[in-house]
Amino acid sequence: MSGPTKVIVDLSFMNSPDTGKCPACKRPFSLGETAVLAIGGWEGQRFIHENEATFDPDIRCYKQKNRA
Ligand SMILES: [Zn+2]
Repeated sequence: MSGPTKVIVDLSFMNSPDTGKCPACKRPFSLGETAVLAIGGWEGQRFIHENEATFDPDIRCYKQKNRA
């Protein structure tokens, strides 16, 4: 089992239909932002902005915080 996944947004990340848009705030990612793989109001794990996620040590995964 691997640890939490955190990436710096690059061009290929931004241009991918799978990761280009943040499912938490619905805004596109910008170059140089930090994105983390998280669970939330979507299926499976998706990359969202780091400041919209909180790390849950119990499940060893980021979770979307302040879910509306
Ligand atoms: Zn976001």
